[in-house]
Amino acid sequence: MNKELVDQVKEYVAAHREEILKKYEEFINLKDFWRDAEDVTIVAQWLKKEFDAEGFQCELIDVGPKAGKLVMGTLGTDRPGQAILFSGHMDTALASDLYSENPFRIEEGKAYGPGVLDMKGGILISLYVVKALNAIQYQERPLKVLFAPDEEGLHSYTQVADFIQQNSAGCLFALNMETGLVNNYLAVGRKGRLGIDVFVEGKSAHAGADFLAGISSIEEMAHKVLHFQALTDLEKDTTVNTGVIQGGTIPNAVPAKCMCSLDIRFKTMDELTRVRTAVKEICEKNYVAGTTCTFQELNLFTPFETHDEIMALFEFMEKTAKRYDLPETAPAQVGGCSDATYIQLAGTPVLCSCGVRGEWNHTLREYAIIESLYERICWYSAAVIDAAEFKF
Ligand SMILES: [Zn+2]
Repeated sequence: MNKELVDQVKEYVAAHREEILKKYEEFINLKDFWRDAEDVTIVAQWLKKEFDAEGFQCELIDVGPKAGKLVMGTLGTDRPGQAILFSGHMDTALASDLYSENPFRIEEGKAYGPGVLDMKGGILISLYVVKALNAIQYQERPLKVLFAPDEEGLHSYTQVADFIQQNSAGCLFALNMETGLVNNYLAVGRKGRLGIDVFVEGKSAHAGADFLAGISSIEEMAHKVLHFQALTDLEKDTTVNTGVIQGGTIPNAVPAKCMCSLDIRFKTMDELTRVRTAVKEICEKNYVAGTTCTFQELNLFTPFETHDEIMALFEFMEKTAKRYDLPETAPAQVGGCSDATYIQLAGTPVLCSCGVRGEWNHTLREYAIIESLYERICWYSAAVIDAAEFKF
């Protein structure tokens, strides 16, 4: 308990409310749709400048031509103890031409604009945690930041997922500054996701004249789809959804080709293994003689599993909120994926949805609650100050 220091943080935040909003506006007005690598790099340079001004030594890391640069840096490399990591992504989900129709603005305590919630607001919180801690001359342990350039693109063209895992190891804990939940809950678990495209080939023939010469890819796929769907296990929260199916060309031909796309969601690696193995078996099995089948896995996001160290970190954050009169929290399970999974795989306890609170990310209705910026800067600064009490 360090009430005096946390009170100083609260005073710092109260004295900088306007400045924080100006910085928010400047940040949001930098476009950074994930596909526009050069725009994302401009944001990375802006963040490097901001964090370096606070004493960080940030690097801009090249992750290939299809994504902007990644930002990573540490403040206080000579400080004792394990670092605390603030992580997230710089890129936004909506195309940059939407900026003119949805510019940054504040209405009735809410901020609007691309990325206000997902998740530039969260990065702004981490910047002001650093500023507030510097203002009170905090020097106890290193602070680290790591911001990915292509999370909205699911790291499809880069090795950023592996990079996050390698570079988040050894930290005391991490807060992933993703989209905050409107009710102030923190995410202690998220589902993983795997896409699989399945391709069946048969043989085309005239449906009237040569019916027996044909081999129906659609008939084969129909069998397979029923088996794919049956892999859903609602008790374990595993779902298998055949979201796309395409096949055949005209009604009066036996169809030679059919494909489908599966979206698989799961909470544990065990469930991923179960479904993955079963899909492979279904693909290899023939229901209609003479058909062949291939499949391709796409965009694997491993799950963020609710292990004991995650709950220990949650309880520490909950206690921190209570003791300094900050808004109450509770643990939440979230359906969507995030990079928290890679931090967990590195063995670092992590919580997700730590960003500014709001709703409707990935839409033009996206908004963030301004007051939650201030509350969370205080909350996470207090967690850093009291970090010695977090033990697992
Ligand atoms: Zn996000």
